[in-house]
Amino acid sequence: MAFFIQHLQPVACLLAAAAFSASAVAQTSPPPEPDAAVWAACLKKLRPQAARAGVSASTWTAAFKNVTPDGGVLAKLDNQPEFKTPIWDYLAGLVDDERVADGQRQLQAHMPTLERVAQAYGVDPATVVAVWGVESNFGQSFGRYPLVQALGTLSCFGRRQAFFQQELLATLHILQRGDVPPERLVGSWAGAFGHTQFMPTTYERLAVDFDGDGRGDLTASVPDAMASTAHFLQKAGWKSGLLWGAEVKLPAGFNLAGEGRRTKRPASAWAERGVTPVAGGSATAVFGADTPLGLMTLAGANGPAFLVSRNFDAIYGYNAAESYGLAIAHLSDRLRGGTPFATPWPTDDPGLSRAQRRELQTLLAQRGHDIGTVDGMLGDNEQSRLGHEANGRAGQKLLKALQQP
Ligand code: CA
Repeated sequence: MAFFIQHLQPVACLLAAAAFSASAVAQTSPPPEPDAAVWAACLKKLRPQAARAGVSASTWTAAFKNVTPDGGVLAKLDNQPEFKTPIWDYLAGLVDDERVADGQRQLQAHMPTLERVAQAYGVDPATVVAVWGVESNFGQSFGRYPLVQALGTLSCFGRRQAFFQQELLATLHILQRGDVPPERLVGSWAGAFGHTQFMPTTYERLAVDFDGDGRGDLTASVPDAMASTAHFLQKAGWKSGLLWGAEVKLPAGFNLAGEGRRTKRPASAWAERGVTPVAGGSATAVFGADTPLGLMTLAGANGPAFLVSRNFDAIYGYNAAESYGLAIAHLSDRLRGGTPFATPWPTDDPGLSRAQRRELQTLLAQRGHDIGTVDGMLGDNEQSRLGHEANGRAGQKLLKALQQP
């Protein structure tokens, strides 16, 4: 989550979806080897800064014992994905039937906690669980990078050192307070960790102890993670009881110029212009006449369109990407029993769910293609051999072709 991901959105998407990455990563050059002398000099410089910020000598020594810089993290920082993931692929993997079913089970399992969270922070259960589902697949994927090593590396090498030094400092504070044991302080390459993937500075500002054991622990405590997420959204401007938005139908020939998530107009103005919620009713009836709403489209006027409220902006604040915000918002609707979007994405080759990606790769493997891990992305060679355009992407067309006996 947070900040840097807006510069690296495609990478963030890959991480979040945990579904596209293998072949993209495989095609990059080997990670650069960080210079040991630079590392030593950098730590020597950072250590007194940490001490001035209250990090004790024993905390520092324990944290950096046997830690060496990780070139793989630097490769992630500089990695420009070869192809941008289309929005329909991104959403097909993040909001599929499997995640909806998993999320509904989690809603059931944690409802007493989620109701208390809603009372305390004003954020409803489905929204909180949707963040959880998109960030870590309900606690199943936290990331694999030890935070001190990853953030230490990024503090000493690469192009965002000042930013990552603040994250490293926050990590050391977390360790010093004993909020999270060192062995569980593992997360994304950029330092997001736990059930809802907070950056360490975000943790410092907003994490809460909701299970009452005296520690805010986003790795081991679902109540702490749920409450911390709701706290984040509350601070980001969440308004209790307000819809995040709704899919809408645009009148024929509607001019999108100048419109966007940030260009807010009262619901009544949209209603007057003929912008209508697909689920029925007028924008005024659904949102209230004076509610400020922006019109968001992610694939032009021919794809799904949405009127979005300040609650969408709060979700957006979690990761600074509209595609990401839509994944969470839409998953929350699906968890409440909502339907898939009424308007199809403007493509003749829609994206694959995670189950379909696994099926496709199993089918490919049965035909003798070396596809590596089951991740839903294909190398160009496999596609060419199969007679499809070589663009590194697998969609419904390829799956259907492979399903033919
Ligand atoms: Ca706790």
